[in-house]
Amino acid sequence: MITARRHMVEGVWKRLGLQNEELKAVMAAVPRHLFLDSALGSKAYSDISLPIGAEQTISQPSMVAMMTNALVPRKGDKILEIGTGSGYQTAILAHYTPRLYSVERIPALSKRAQALLEQLGFRNVIYKTGDGSLGWESWAPYDRIIVTAGAPVVSEKLKLQLTDGGRMLIPTGGRESQKLLCVDRIGSTFRETDLGDCRFVPLLGKEGWEK
Ligand code: SAH
Repeated sequence: MITARRHMVEGVWKRLGLQNEELKAVMAAVPRHLFLDSALGSKAYSDISLPIGAEQTISQPSMVAMMTNALVPRKGDKILEIGTGSGYQTAILAHYTPRLYSVERIPALSKRAQALLEQLGFRNVIYKTGDGSLGWESWAPYDRIIVTAGAPVVSEKLKLQLTDGGRMLIPTGGRESQKLLCVDRIGSTFRETDLGDCRFVPLLGKEGWEK
């Protein structure tokens, strides 16, 4: 497994031309197969998204690498993740900060991710089951926000939960395919950068898509 994981990570780094050695070591250390049903274990170290139940998917490793790299999480940043899903991206972010908040709308997925992450020794994540399209006001503001489901628009509510100098990554566009946007807050202005095309499951909720 370790060889397969290292091989996958090396491939992703080569393809994307990434230089981020810290992130490479983190991704090489996270056992992705444990975040999947055992029947899918043999595919865990292919660079593909895979089903995790409830019509949701674990993100493709190259997308996780690209998003985490673009997020530029700094040690100790307060981070909000919307869409816990399998908890795979959560495990990677948890490396960077003791202040990680993760929201998932499907209770069964949140429960499963929590149990696994606790079993793997992660004690620094605070979980919530509910609609993360509105962010998580009680712990705001956040230095970094990462949304791992596709939104129709960049929600004002989420933007306003960024610190001054904060950064958010959010796939935005259609229900089937989106553009990955990087939103930087500079005082009261927000600068958006398009990082390219992507495909995420829809963000369902008040500031997302209707069910
Ligand atoms: N990062 C996860 C991605 C899971 S897919 C992983 O790699 O496993 C996206 C997740 O977003 C799904 O689990 C879905 O249920 C969740 N989601 C969709 N809309 C949401 C919302 N409004 N609030 C919180 N989570 C949401």
